[in-house]
Amino acid sequence: MRIWPGSQLDIGPSTSEGFYYDFDIPEHRLSPEDFPRIEEEMKRIIKENLVFQKEVKSREEVSTILKTSGQKFKIERLADIPEGEEISTYTIGDFLDLCAGPHVMRTGNVKAYKLLRVAAAYYRGKETNPQLQRLYGTAFANKTELEEWLKMLEEAKRRDHRKIGKEMRLFTFDEDVGPGLPLWLPKGGILVNELEKLAMETEFQAGYERVRTPHLAKESMYKKSGHLPYYAESMFPPLEMKETLNDGTEKVERYYLKAMNCPHHHKIFASYPRSYRELPLRLAEYGCCYRYEQSGELFGLMRVRSLQMNDAHIYCTPEQFASEFQAVNEMYMKYFKIFGIQKYLMRFSTHDPQQLGHKFVDDPELWKETEDRVRNVLKDSGIDYVEIPNEAAFYGPKIDVQVWSAIGREFTLATNQVDFAVPGRFGLVYRTRENTEATPLCIHRAPLGTHERFIGFLIEHYAGNFPLWLAPDQVRILPIGSEQMEYCEALRKRMHADGIRVSVDTSGDKIGGKIRNAEVDKVHTMFVVGQKEQEQNAVAVRRHGKGDQGVKPIEEVLVQIKTMIAERASD
Ligand SMILES: [Zn+2]
Repeated sequence: MRIWPGSQLDIGPSTSEGFYYDFDIPEHRLSPEDFPRIEEEMKRIIKENLVFQKEVKSREEVSTILKTSGQKFKIERLADIPEGEEISTYTIGDFLDLCAGPHVMRTGNVKAYKLLRVAAAYYRGKETNPQLQRLYGTAFANKTELEEWLKMLEEAKRRDHRKIGKEMRLFTFDEDVGPGLPLWLPKGGILVNELEKLAMETEFQAGYERVRTPHLAKESMYKKSGHLPYYAESMFPPLEMKETLNDGTEKVERYYLKAMNCPHHHKIFASYPRSYRELPLRLAEYGCCYRYEQSGELFGLMRVRSLQMNDAHIYCTPEQFASEFQAVNEMYMKYFKIFGIQKYLMRFSTHDPQQLGHKFVDDPELWKETEDRVRNVLKDSGIDYVEIPNEAAFYGPKIDVQVWSAIGREFTLATNQVDFAVPGRFGLVYRTRENTEATPLCIHRAPLGTHERFIGFLIEHYAGNFPLWLAPDQVRILPIGSEQMEYCEALRKRMHADGIRVSVDTSGDKIGGKIRNAEVDKVHTMFVVGQKEQEQNAVAVRRHGKGDQGVKPIEEVLVQIKTMIAERASD
């Protein structure tokens, strides 16, 4: 405003990385070249040590101030505040803004800040509205924290899953297949399969049963589940098809690609009469779902239109709920350990009693009971969690699981939900011990989230240097000369028969070149074989990024490698 008088302001919220503000600046297009000048002005304002003065004002008073300063977007935003609601403003020097706060006391409290980038944004996100300039920035309590954060961003750029995914040939997107529809290349397919194998083994041990369901269903099912019409925006448009019935008449049916696996699993529960003896019933599937995301929202593997979910639904009695929920949490912890995830947080979203019947299913006792159970389990198991009121799902409390990658970047991985309404909508019942009918509770859980998001996370977490059990290329055998080729090929065959992903470098490169190529390909372990090694029935072991590990007898190395794979060792 000081630099470009006449600028129109829209909104400026805080974000997970800092803040942004939307401007309409007459006859000037912001670019990073403007940043030093703007930051200079920010420095001056901080030096002035102005007070952030909160004041609740009347609508008329605020309206007059905004009209005098000619802030047309702000006047419209003011009109959005419902009649009777408090109008909170902040004044900094001669500048007034609509804001609920809170803020620091004075501009002088801002110790470290930086402008990050500028982007175009439509007013109220609508393409028919004027285009504004969105300026992003961040602020920290001190310079060290800011610098650490900037360093982390640099490292995240280096570890960008789209970049590494391309270099390692893990996945790709194709124009003809469609945006947001990833194709897993063979090496990415290995990651997918290893994760599924892990999930299947873990779930088998935990008493889950596997099911398989089609990728689409009729409109009537999604009306029953409530996805239609409430979730219609996030679903692909329907496929319409004419069906000839047995009596020769024709009928038009509408099918939808599934956006969630739950309705299909509910139908499996309902496929025959259930008894309390069958509960808890845990149905698991790596289900493929399709969600319509706007093309502008798509982002590598993180925001996609087809996703394979580590899904399961646990149907249980209210008495079984606590132990089932506890077991789900333990499964999370087991996975965190395997993947070396050291920092995590469970965000437990609960209901607001005042919103019962509107935002939340109107069953106050069931809410209280279920939330108490969830809270007790979280407390008893000493899990790090925060409680967030008024953010539960319509049909029950939910838990979002946030994890931090090895470089400290935050990801939302998965959501657990307790569902006490939908089983009712689907008419799911079981015979109780007393031979009455009751509706089960349903826990939706997906600890490994979706393959797309989880592998995106793992690529950054490991910087593509996956532990042996996950690594697409586990071992490469590097003969020093052609005389060792036969010996190497025999060794490869033997390891391959043991299920190890192994190859021989048959190129004519010198050994130094072979090692370099294996390093670039992020091959986990290299066996260098020369005449000496061959004679001793040994190999010289090298580890990706760790160098020479010494000459070892083959028998010893193979036992070690097989153990590391079987135990899913973390390095
Ligand atoms: Zn579900």
